[in-house]
Amino acid sequence: MLVLVINSGSSSIKYQVREVSTSAENIAPYTSSMPAINERITLEQATVGVEGDQVLTKGLIENIGEGGDIADHAQALDVMAQRLDEALGGRTIDAVGHRVVHGGERFSAPVIVNNEIIRAIERLAPLAPLHNPAAALGLRAVEKKWPGLPQVVVFDTAFHRSLPEKAWRYAIPDSFYRLHGIRRYGFHGTSHDYVTGKAAEFLGAERESFNAVVAHLGNGASVTAIQGGTSVDTSMGYTPLAGLIMGTRSGDVDPSVLTGILTRDRSMSAEELDRILNKESGLAAIGGSNDMRDLTERTEAGDAKAALAMEMAAYRLVKYIGGYHVAVGGMQALIFTAGIGEKGPEFRKLVVDQLSALNIALDDSANAVRSDDIRVISASDSAIPVLVVPTDEERAIAEATAGLVTSRIQS
Ligand code: AMP
Repeated sequence: MLVLVINSGSSSIKYQVREVSTSAENIAPYTSSMPAINERITLEQATVGVEGDQVLTKGLIENIGEGGDIADHAQALDVMAQRLDEALGGRTIDAVGHRVVHGGERFSAPVIVNNEIIRAIERLAPLAPLHNPAAALGLRAVEKKWPGLPQVVVFDTAFHRSLPEKAWRYAIPDSFYRLHGIRRYGFHGTSHDYVTGKAAEFLGAERESFNAVVAHLGNGASVTAIQGGTSVDTSMGYTPLAGLIMGTRSGDVDPSVLTGILTRDRSMSAEELDRILNKESGLAAIGGSNDMRDLTERTEAGDAKAALAMEMAAYRLVKYIGGYHVAVGGMQALIFTAGIGEKGPEFRKLVVDQLSALNIALDDSANAVRSDDIRVISASDSAIPVLVVPTDEERAIAEATAGLVTSRIQS
């Protein structure tokens, strides 16, 4: 089955075409928690072969919208369709899987799209004002261009719907939650879910009883506590600003810092402060760069600011790892993933070297290996294995899409 995976932003569309095997002899139960129940489809029915997955083509269309080269998302799809025609040599797309940032409290799994689902995604716009409207535009554009083509939405928040109330509540008046939906949602769920499944499989553990801590360290970064294969806590919150120190995001700060600044500097608007916390903070604010490669090189050359930025980010992460280890009742693995997690041995070492209280130790030569494969980087006598597990959100979206669409055809 050819699945087109789309990530629609307000002014760009990222796309990939994946071939996902769904042949009868290849069909295996899809064990991830992702394509679980939408109203009528049961987990058992959602089956898809997971072999033979490959990227056939991918690309990015930018400058969409007012003042850009491309008028709107519909026109962007025309451009994409032309590129796909050329790249796929006459083969046609069977289904489209969309990454959607926010599924609110409603969506705990991917679902097949209909008009009501698109409206629900639009209604969640107050929670993700930049992302959800763009996703809805992408969904409508596909519907218009290829009427009847099955579409599936996969939500970044869905994997964290298993958080218990003690983890998702903020200790603020209930009306904030009831009137405005203010609570922890968590993000990067597709990636946390995917690498959890891969790690359990790699270690020969049953996912249903697998406890772990997953550190997704990209430009955005979050860490998740996995208990029994599900998410029970995660560092991002109401928005992706919370938790770890990221490329340009502050992560956790005392909320009084914000009210204090707004009170003291009357020329500062809430929107401006939000922009600074999202775009001018984190590693960039401390180390002068949001790029871990740059910070690593400068640290090695003796730059104190770059070194401090790395130390702060590692220390923040270490505190979460310790807390989540306790929260899950003892992790069976510590998992690194995404850009820095997969390709940043120096940062991983900064983190793991602070975990000696848990008797976790790195194998320096295994940590230095550069590879696209899942691998163990801890010493043989480490009390808990440390893994690098390459993430592949597009693959997870393609498989969830193929799973739901296949089960719909079969049922
Ligand atoms: P992502 O958002 O997953 O694409 O990750 C982006 C982050 O990965 C950036 O901070 C990059 O600096 C970092 N990154 C990419 N390659 C490397 C590398 N070879 N060493 C350290 N960090 C890297």
